[in-house]
Amino acid sequence: MGMDRLQQANVIDGKAFAAGMLEHLKSDVAGLLTETGKIPGLAVVLVGDDPASAVYVGSKHRQTVAAGMNSFEHRLPAETSQSELMSLIERLNTDPQVHGILVQLPLPKHLDPNAVIQAINPDKDVDGFHIANAGRLATGQPALVPCTPLGCMMLLKDRLGDNLAGLNAVVIGKSNIVGKPMAQMLLNANCTVTIVHSKTRNTQELCRAADILVVAVGRPGLVRGDWIKPGAVVIDVGINRIVEGGKSRIVGDVAYDEAGHAGAITPVPGGVGPMTIACLLSNTLTAFRRQHGLAA
Ligand code: NAP
Repeated sequence: MGMDRLQQANVIDGKAFAAGMLEHLKSDVAGLLTETGKIPGLAVVLVGDDPASAVYVGSKHRQTVAAGMNSFEHRLPAETSQSELMSLIERLNTDPQVHGILVQLPLPKHLDPNAVIQAINPDKDVDGFHIANAGRLATGQPALVPCTPLGCMMLLKDRLGDNLAGLNAVVIGKSNIVGKPMAQMLLNANCTVTIVHSKTRNTQELCRAADILVVAVGRPGLVRGDWIKPGAVVIDVGINRIVEGGKSRIVGDVAYDEAGHAGAITPVPGGVGPMTIACLLSNTLTAFRRQHGLAA
């Protein structure tokens, strides 16, 4: 079952979807400016000089500006103290021009990421990592939800329609930033949800029963073709750099060329990845609306 069997129509084009979202966001921002005289603002805090983080922060800045929003970048030296970082968060919490706050992780070792995240005003927590947002999501209340699973959910609904009730959903991975919030969102959509992790005993059998299979592990080719039920929608969150024949490339967690019988699948790259920043901007817009008492 080769890659050519995976018809174009079955490939979920996250890149195109995210580009469409950004166009919508841009016109929403323009509309808000007319309506309120204000535009949403996103503050991104980067501590230290981790090269990958610097690339992410740069790309967030560019796309924020492209959507017509204010982007406030705070690049702090690696030796920044916990209390300096906390006072910046305090300032951003009360700054009326800032509607969303994101602290780029990982932080340098001497800083406590949990304390920093819990110091963010939950209504400005556009990463959705604050326990207040995790709790709101778990109890089905309006929350700011983590960007990557939010993007997965949008791609799923684009394929399957808004009504996912009764579908068997399996999420592989139970991290706080992807697996758990993904499972919560699927549960809120009335799917029958199973979470599979490193201690699960009958992983393959559980996966084979899935109508929706979301994979967020970080192991290239973990999910083989025979784990996938014919017709299932497969969302591959994994981002893995592998070296093959002296060349390095990015692959997901699913053996993509074995997935020709899937109903639809996200490629890596070009699937879930581009959705994350689009959802960050969408969360910033949501935060702005709620802070101004505007309808969703
Ligand atoms: P993580 O915190 O390392 O969590 C990985 C999860 O996979 C854990 O829950 C772990 O189980 C589980 N796991 C490990 N080996 C397994 C196995 N053999 N079978 C079943 N489950 C297994 O990773 P993460 O932050 O959630 O990220 C997962 C992947 O998504 C990574 O490749 C990451 O780069 C990618 N990612 C992509 C985006 C994006 O597209 N924008 C965003 C975030 C993450 P235990 O809990 O039992 O250890």
